[in-house]
Amino acid sequence: DMTIPTPEGATPAMAQWFALKAEHPEALLFFRMGDFYELFFADAEAAAAALDISLTARGTHAGMPIAMCGVPVHAAPAYLARLIRRGFRVSVAEQTEAPRKGRAAAKGPLRREVVRLVTPGTLTEDELLEAGRQNLLACIVAERGTGRLGVAWIDISTGLFETANLPADGLQDLLGRLDPAEILCADDIALGDFAARRAPPVIPMNAAAARRRMAETFGAASLDAFGTFSDGEAMAGATAIDYIRRSQAGQLPRLSRPHPHDSSEVLGLDPATRASLDLLRTRDGDNTHTLFAAVDRTVTAAGSRLLGEWIAAPLTDARRITTRQDAWAWLLDKPQVRQSLRDALRPAPDVARALGRLSLGRGQPRDAAAIRAALSTARHVARIVRESPQAPSLVTRATAHLDKATELEALLARALSDTLPARLEDGGVIATGYDGELDGERELRDGSRRIIAALQQEYADAFGISNLKIRHHAQLGYVIEVPSAASARLKDREDLILRQGTASAARFSTDRLVSLDQRIIEAAERAAARERTLFAELVRTILDEPALPDIASALAVLDIIQSCAELAGGGTWCRAAISDDTTFDLTDCRHPVVEAALPRDARFTPNSCDLSPDRRVMLLTGPNMAGKSTFLRQTALAVIVAQAGLPVCAKAARIGIVDRLFSRVGAADDLARGRSTFMVEMTETAAILNQAGPRSMVVVDEIGRGTATLDGLAIAWAVLEAMHSTLRCRAIFATHFHELSELAESLPRLSPHTMSVREWKGEVIFQHEVVPGTARRSWGVHVARLAGVPEPVVRRAGRLLAGLEKERHAAAPALPLFERIDTPPPVAEATPALPEKVIEMVIGLDPDELTPRAALDALYRLKKLL
Ligand code: ADP
Repeated sequence: DMTIPTPEGATPAMAQWFALKAEHPEALLFFRMGDFYELFFADAEAAAAALDISLTARGTHAGMPIAMCGVPVHAAPAYLARLIRRGFRVSVAEQTEAPRKGRAAAKGPLRREVVRLVTPGTLTEDELLEAGRQNLLACIVAERGTGRLGVAWIDISTGLFETANLPADGLQDLLGRLDPAEILCADDIALGDFAARRAPPVIPMNAAAARRRMAETFGAASLDAFGTFSDGEAMAGATAIDYIRRSQAGQLPRLSRPHPHDSSEVLGLDPATRASLDLLRTRDGDNTHTLFAAVDRTVTAAGSRLLGEWIAAPLTDARRITTRQDAWAWLLDKPQVRQSLRDALRPAPDVARALGRLSLGRGQPRDAAAIRAALSTARHVARIVRESPQAPSLVTRATAHLDKATELEALLARALSDTLPARLEDGGVIATGYDGELDGERELRDGSRRIIAALQQEYADAFGISNLKIRHHAQLGYVIEVPSAASARLKDREDLILRQGTASAARFSTDRLVSLDQRIIEAAERAAARERTLFAELVRTILDEPALPDIASALAVLDIIQSCAELAGGGTWCRAAISDDTTFDLTDCRHPVVEAALPRDARFTPNSCDLSPDRRVMLLTGPNMAGKSTFLRQTALAVIVAQAGLPVCAKAARIGIVDRLFSRVGAADDLARGRSTFMVEMTETAAILNQAGPRSMVVVDEIGRGTATLDGLAIAWAVLEAMHSTLRCRAIFATHFHELSELAESLPRLSPHTMSVREWKGEVIFQHEVVPGTARRSWGVHVARLAGVPEPVVRRAGRLLAGLEKERHAAAPALPLFERIDTPPPVAEATPALPEKVIEMVIGLDPDELTPRAALDALYRLKKLL
């Protein structure tokens, strides 16, 4: 709890601090004093602890010492990054008045203003951002009366701006996909797993005002110019814009036009599914053992960001998927073109982020240089593409943008020096020959310096002091410096004024030096001012170039295309055949992450997976460690990469578009949040049963394991039946309950499979191969031995098991477990509910009116609907 004392009786400087702190009370205030940002009171205590820097005191307030700590301005980004990562927000107050000298200084503290609020969702500096990842600010607004939500998300570092309208229960899926750094919404919207990203609550503006704000932000008469937005989407977008503008002290970065999304355009993936599949990050935040890392062959930060977006949001439209596939397939037999593209793209700087900083007035020379370099890359890349015939549509569309800014490129080539200083103040940003006035001032400055250099020899000769030097001195300006021993010789010269005498040297100035010094200072000041003006003009020209954002995204797309081609070019990843039905057939599929992590001498065993309509539910049994979860995950991952339009880690793949994918694999230990494992398991199972449909795909591991055997078996049984006969989805159902295999007799589309295991001299050997059939026995006792359970315990368990199995065999009815609980034995495949469309159509038919031909047609159409 941050208790800030009241401002009564504060010194003028501290009174200013109190006023600025009140603008953003929830943020730590970085208060600029000279070369430091200082923090006071509780801010200082919190920051000193978080940054591990020393806490001191400065003066007193209300009789108590004021706690203080500070960070040097030049190192501020690194400190800011740490504070933001720790969950702090920081407001930055700069001196907005030049330091005064002499008597004016007595007039109280310099003017200071908060120039920026730094929050996780409003970052622009490379030091604060991950290069290959989006950094999103999301805003959520509940729509009045509809139970739906409007969501807008913006990446101010690149200008991306998108919105969606969705049912409230779709929020977790969307947040899981976006992984926003910061979320704006009213208090009453529950954020679940994302609660820690919540910003202080905002009050959205009303719908009409929001539509106006959105339209005027993009210079349009009406928001309709950009697509159809619900009220909630407009409110969320406008609220986010206002929040950003406030955080940037009134400035708004350049944003791309808002793009409304239809959530049915993307494959449904709920947070549990994402968490179980380690798409972009593993659960503990690791980036290396992820699907992303396994498929990423991009060479630019922008390409890798876009690839992350593709993986996070696979498509459901076969045409769009094939367009992506066509693009990279074109490069498969062109390794040379691929290589040239990689070489050309690799040095391309991050245009989108450079533009973001330039548009906020935070751009440095290197950002302008980034644009210059990117434009030459773009031209080079366009040439490479155009030299290769028959480019597919995605490639030609991207390439068409690449040479649209040749004039800007020529301008930057003329205007910017070849090597640029880190900061504009260091000078030398604008090239010689670009501007006559600047060249003139520089010439005056440098000419005077040359004259001074020549004077050294002249004075040395005139005074007969060979080691006389002319030096530039911070306070004194240019001075003649001679050893003290020689200074006596100069005492009587009237043209020399003694400025400073020390034990070792004496320093003199002359009228000539003083006037030259003055000329240098004035010329340098004029040159610097001119350079600032010219740079500001260049920045304006850059920001006025409409093609730049298109060029940035075209380069990112081409980077992904070469990345996919590079991946598939190795011959072990394939292009999936995508169709609009429920086909599912993977040949020799692998898990790319597990495969990569295997030791050198181990080989990954590929497995096929056929979930064709007549066998769309696979029941998978087999002991622990046999490779079940790997198989489940690799199958789910194949769906994701295939629908993202990327190569699949298999020999061949045929996939009918999946609308929602559910994966429940691996430890769902939510115990930390106080929910029992079984409760979590059942909640997640309920989510599947309530949402999956005939075009969905489900992979689940060990439903029912979290409770007593009988309960568990009964639940697993019922869930399996529902998937098979009611949801009618494609599914792989891995289980410990071998009894379930007997269901194959009553469920015609159930195909029992098992992980093949061999026993050799009393040891188990896992072959990681999926074969038709059912595990004959449980290998738990063997796994216990593998895990190092002491031998006597293992042997005792083995004897007990043998005894139990014999007993059960003797009791032997087909399903002994089920006779003891009150469940009716399963009947043949339960009658599935008819799809609504079928019912509608049947109702619409009038048999008396139908010709035999029309009746036959109707029959065909009905069959198609099933
Ligand atoms: P289960 O889910 O049956 O307990 P896992 O899928 O976790 O087993 O696999 C256990 C280990 O076996 C993995 O970490 C991996 O090292 C290895 N493994 C799994 N599948 C394969 C495979 N197809 N080829 C080679 N090794 C595999």
